[in-house]
Amino acid sequence: MHVLVVGGAGYIGSHMVKLLSQRGFNVTVLDNLSAGHRDAVVGGRFVLGDLGERDVLDELLETQRVDGVMHFASHIQVGESVREPAKYYLNNVFKTQYLLDAMVAHRVRSFVFSSTAAIFGEPVRVPMAEDHPKNPINPYGRGKWMVEQMLQDYDVAYGLKSVCLRYFNAAGADPDGELGERHEPETHLIPLVLQAAAGRRPGVTVFGTDYDTPDGTCIRDYIHVADLCEAHLLALQRLWAGGDGAAYNLGNGNGFSVREVIETAHAVTGRAIPVQYGARRPGDPARLVADARRARAELGWAPRHAELATIIAHAWRWETRPSSPHPGENG
Ligand code: UDP
Repeated sequence: MHVLVVGGAGYIGSHMVKLLSQRGFNVTVLDNLSAGHRDAVVGGRFVLGDLGERDVLDELLETQRVDGVMHFASHIQVGESVREPAKYYLNNVFKTQYLLDAMVAHRVRSFVFSSTAAIFGEPVRVPMAEDHPKNPINPYGRGKWMVEQMLQDYDVAYGLKSVCLRYFNAAGADPDGELGERHEPETHLIPLVLQAAAGRRPGVTVFGTDYDTPDGTCIRDYIHVADLCEAHLLALQRLWAGGDGAAYNLGNGNGFSVREVIETAHAVTGRAIPVQYGARRPGDPARLVADARRARAELGWAPRHAELATIIAHAWRWETRPSSPHPGENG
């Protein structure tokens, strides 16, 4: 089977390409390298191109049979989406529609979409199941929810079957140490904490200590990137087996506070992590934890790296890899 991975040079996409290649799938990557890295594509065929280029999409879908598409090519910063909504709606919504239209035109009917817990907005129930109300509070979450709704309509009208996977906090790195998170700029907690541990940042700032949580800092559900990728493969296989379109929340179902993440990172790395306490970051709900029982029941998915210490240990290996710009002393 041949899988087109759009955004396959990015953080989650690159791990997906490696998994698909290892499992014997034929993989083509389409990436414009606006955020991804060419050297992160460790398998498959690489095509440099943008979702907005219909001729590129047509050629890709015409020249070889494509059995399924996975779409990771999104802008992902919530704060930036508030400042630059046009950028987010153009890429994450309109260009995604070009991709779907090209799939319909070329009769490619299986699609796995990278969605997000941000479609829910401020939680009214925690843990959050798939039927939690959808009230996204920023353009990033709104755009993802628009695409989810678009996909329901494309299923009814055009027979395009899709699975939407709503990630909670993607984290960790390839257990083999070959791939990891390389966002520029980095905004995510775990890599920032580990870069501080490695001495590559002066420290880390905790955004808010007055939340209604046991230690006053935000609680998130961190899910290993390798476990996310397994869920994508199971989702695509569900569609190939004739399963209906669906949406699944993906998390471990365990929440960890910002302080707990820093403490665990300290325990894993044995390094001092200088911490500053700052103001809340706008748009951060106090507590986001997944109820992922549907993915377990319907996809047969079971996270293999559910321990926060394991997630952090894999990310630490990546942050201190010998080829990193400034490896930690442990190399
Ligand atoms: N966070 C923090 N300091 C940072 C970056 C993040 O305290 O420098 C907090 C953030 O407020 C949130 C949690 O860490 O509660 C996870 O944030 P991240 O940006 O990693 O993911 P998000 O929850 O935004 O998807």
